[in-house]
Amino acid sequence: ERVEYIHFINHIVDRFEMNLKEGLSIERYLPKGECYVWIDSDKLTQVLDNIISNAIKYSPEGGKINVEVIQENHRLLTQVSDEGVGIPEDNVEKIFDRFYRVDKARSRQLGGTGLGLAISKEMIEAHDGKIWAKSKENKGTTITFSLPLMRKKRGSN
Ligand code: ATP
Ligand code: MG
Repeated sequence: ERVEYIHFINHIVDRFEMNLKEGLSIERYLPKGECYVWIDSDKLTQVLDNIISNAIKYSPEGGKINVEVIQENHRLLTQVSDEGVGIPEDNVEKIFDRFYRVDKARSRQLGGTGLGLAISKEMIEAHDGKIWAKSKENKGTTITFSLPLMRKKRGSN
């Protein structure tokens, strides 16, 4: 379905802000205008839920999370950054593998199955997008995904 992405993402972030842990904050950096994408909004909601809940889960007290949307020529980038524990450089690619979790002990404490990002990757690729991670240990993590942008001022599609 055709979805106005800025409205869509605001709605998701609003929902997280309503019951955010003490001390954490989410900042939004969003384009002014409207951005139309052709997505399965249930699946994209699942992707964003996982990425944002990871950012929250691995953030320290007082951490800031940024949600940024960048409009390029033909694609839309969505970037979620945190100031959390980060991921060792050698493991950054592996976080998209099924059941992979950095530091088993820590992860077990925090809960989860290690499937979230593997599923997110499948869903983004099914939307002709890409997803990748940048991270520095003890500095933070940025997860970015792209989605094809629909052309403006075109009739129905
Ligand atoms: P699930 O999402 O299934 O509940 P999970 O969150 O552990 O479990 P993924 O979302 O697939 O699984 O993430 C895989 C692993 O990548 C996590 O266990 C964690 O070690 C690491 N990871 C993911 N996001 C972050 C982040 N923002 N900061 C630090 N580590 C992260
Ligand atoms: Mg997860």
